[in-house]
Amino acid sequence: MKGRLEGKVALVTGATSGIGKAAAELMSKEGARVGLLGHSKEHLHAAAKGIRGDCVLLEADVASPEQMKKAADKLAGEFGTIDLVFANAGINGVWAPLDELEPEEWDRTLDTNLKGTYLAVKYALPYLKERGGAVVITSSVNGTRVFSNTGATAYSCSKAAQVAFAKMVALELAKHRIRVNVVCPGAIKTEIEESTEKRDLDRVIEPVEYPAGEIPLTNGKPGTAEEVAELVVFLCSDAASHITGTEMWIDGGQSLLVG
Ligand code: NAD
Repeated sequence: MKGRLEGKVALVTGATSGIGKAAAELMSKEGARVGLLGHSKEHLHAAAKGIRGDCVLLEADVASPEQMKKAADKLAGEFGTIDLVFANAGINGVWAPLDELEPEEWDRTLDTNLKGTYLAVKYALPYLKERGGAVVITSSVNGTRVFSNTGATAYSCSKAAQVAFAKMVALELAKHRIRVNVVCPGAIKTEIEESTEKRDLDRVIEPVEYPAGEIPLTNGKPGTAEEVAELVVFLCSDAASHITGTEMWIDGGQSLLVG
């Protein structure tokens, strides 16, 4: 049977672990040729082992304009164009009381999560315009429906702004037949904790008690990266041909309970 992304070329940022890795693997299984973008050569080589079709390794920091331009050009040079962008790389960064959060910590989170999204789309754009395409951006429940992770201010602002970015460019790029959508995961089992530094949150956190069962659909069990990957492939595929400029929460109902 023909794959859902047959003949497409996809750029996936943050492709060496978690949601990005699962999405790259599923995209490849569905027929896409994939550019795996990450900032560790060693991790990129390991991630490539899970790809069954053609892939190219793109070593880049998503916050670097020069490196991101080079990566997009390399992918298009290798496979002819770019049809799909999964702008997914992100960090939790520092979660701390506002008076303790340092400007460089704020910048690092915003540079990775927000500027990284902008750069991935910007430098893929000349290629996306060639025959239309789809962009999917990984935001979060934080900053879109959940505002009670006190201390995660920089993270939540970056995630909220990704949704605004998606809506702005969805309208701007519609005439080029480029769709732009957002996935907003709740708790998903990945390596995200490794990019998290929590400091003195007990000083600012509100003592809110929610009803039992943090994720209603699964009785508290986190989602999987593979479940998010399914949504990403759907949004990239022709099955989503009339969907643009929208966010979709994938959280088992978590954000309906925890606000
Ligand atoms: P993860 O840590 O497993 O994956 C993040 C990936 O981004 C890693 O491969 C990492 O190397 C890469 N990355 C980080 N900074 C980079 C940089 N400067 N340049 C290039 N690559 C960089 O975590 P994940 O959960 O798979 O995260 C993916 C996305 O999902 C993030 O945007 C995150 O905010 C979002 N998200 C995750 C959850 C969750 O519970 N796991 C929930 C909501 C949103």
